[in-house]
Amino acid sequence: MASLALQAICKSFGETRVLDRLDLEVQDGEFLSLLGPSGCGKSTVLKLIAGLDHLDAGAIRLDGRDVARVAAKHRNVAMVFQSYALYPYMSAARNIATPLEMRRLSRWQRLPVIGRWLPGAASIHAGIDASVRRVAETVSLEQLLERKPGQLSGGQRQRVALARAMVRNPAIFLFDEPLSNLDTHLRKQVRTEIADLHRRLGTTFVYVTHDQEEAMAISDRVAVMEGGRILQLAAPETLYVRPDSVTVARFIGDPAINLIPAAADASGHVVADNTQIEFLVPGRSARALTLGFRPESLFPGARAGAMQLRMRLVSREYQGARCTLALETAGGSTVHAVLPAAESPAVKRGGDWQSWSIDRAQLLVFDSEGLRVDLASAVAGTISPSEEI
Ligand code: ADP
Ligand code: MG
Repeated sequence: MASLALQAICKSFGETRVLDRLDLEVQDGEFLSLLGPSGCGKSTVLKLIAGLDHLDAGAIRLDGRDVARVAAKHRNVAMVFQSYALYPYMSAARNIATPLEMRRLSRWQRLPVIGRWLPGAASIHAGIDASVRRVAETVSLEQLLERKPGQLSGGQRQRVALARAMVRNPAIFLFDEPLSNLDTHLRKQVRTEIADLHRRLGTTFVYVTHDQEEAMAISDRVAVMEGGRILQLAAPETLYVRPDSVTVARFIGDPAINLIPAAADASGHVVADNTQIEFLVPGRSARALTLGFRPESLFPGARAGAMQLRMRLVSREYQGARCTLALETAGGSTVHAVLPAAESPAVKRGGDWQSWSIDRAQLLVFDSEGLRVDLASAVAGTISPSEEI
């Protein structure tokens, strides 16, 4: 177990600055995910932590100790890659044993067959074999230890890679998109196994993914990255309910958050789609605003106390338990609603304009820079009914 702190780390490749004074603190035993689009610098962060690449500036501390000059193999950090990086000609058991053999045996003692007969080697080999069996059991690989990677499924290969990371008993596990090569069904299963493993080991996990659903499902906290910076670091619920910016709001959630243009009128009230919302924005806020609300906070009909907008149903996607509806607002925006299938209205040709209600507690307002406006001090009263359109 260990805590990890990255302090103002910088990394450039040639002229391109990939990480620019990035700060990150990971608690002891935490499951933290780095989430961001391809190319935003996630793998670079992991490689710097593992010691597979060098920092330009800043510090990396493991349990408070600066590890800048500590070689990768002495950092007690294990990395699991997307490609598994297994040796194809070695059995699963040998693949798992490799990190221990490299560490505990001399070059001669590592030789196949005769290595075991060299002085002192037998007891070390026996210890390694026992460790391999122990971790193989943890990830249910006992029956498959003699197979080569080519004789294993994708999910089984991923478990060999996991076991190989575990065998050294590292203080920190780093995962670089470990599920990318698995099909959708298996991805969900293996991600649950990884979350389980985290609970059992209680070790610090830093997990990289570009899949927001995956990050939200298994992490204690998620760092949302873009262009080498962390936009927001928070628990999944906080990112979903109170994103700091439009960018984070858009990145989290499926279907995506609804965003419609809004403005503040002379009295400071937010106006969207010709509807005045009883929220006051602070006087300094820019007049060009964006109103955001999640698809599940939108309901058909006029509900007391809710914000109401006139909308027309455009299409409906059936998804078993629920339906996703596309609606057009009077102001010309397209928004989505997610409703239980039984409650979702059918699409009619030339559908009428109807009232839809938005749960006011879930409304978000962003300023012209895309930052969330704090509405805590706003005066919330009753809703003025929308003008007839
Ligand atoms: P991610 O893992 O988020 O997809 P990476 O950390 O792999 O992103 O890469 C971030 C940026 O750094 C990308 O633009 C990538 O092209 C660049 N990059 C990464 N590694 C190297 C390298 N060894 N040499 C040059 N550019 C690199
Ligand atoms: Mg990457």
